[in-house]
Amino acid sequence: MGLKKLSNSSLKMVNRSPYRGDDLLRFVHAGLKAKNCYGLVKTVEFLVSPYFRTKGYAYCDEARIQVIFPRGFNPAKDMRELAQVYEHEIDHIFGLEHKDMPDWWTLKPTWQEHLCIRLRKDAAKPRDEAVLERKIRTLVDELDRVRYGV
Ligand SMILES: [Zn+2]
Repeated sequence: MGLKKLSNSSLKMVNRSPYRGDDLLRFVHAGLKAKNCYGLVKTVEFLVSPYFRTKGYAYCDEARIQVIFPRGFNPAKDMRELAQVYEHEIDHIFGLEHKDMPDWWTLKPTWQEHLCIRLRKDAAKPRDEAVLERKIRTLVDELDRVRYGV
């Protein structure tokens, strides 16, 4: 397959994570560059999972990738897994299927080693989230009392 090198502006990033957009953009570009896949991927979305492993999805018809951070992502130990999952999804966009691909956890990316992914300054701290969650539960209990008299 002949790869066309399109300008970086054809690439869209959607950040629905608490991590810094500039860090994520560097990650997105470094992976595409390492895989020589510029122009192939149109959209990369970042989300956060309630689970403890990194996940990814590739929507081939839209050339869109979702990279899903694990809960409590720790760049010091989880960057490699994030890069492995991202590479795997790029391979899907490239047109590969699982039978043609190595298992993602056996991939050995190195392009992410000099990168960091930091929390945004305004990102909610896990503690703040817990406090908010307790407040919401109290309100829901109150609503139940009003509604159902329980
Ligand atoms: Zn897959």
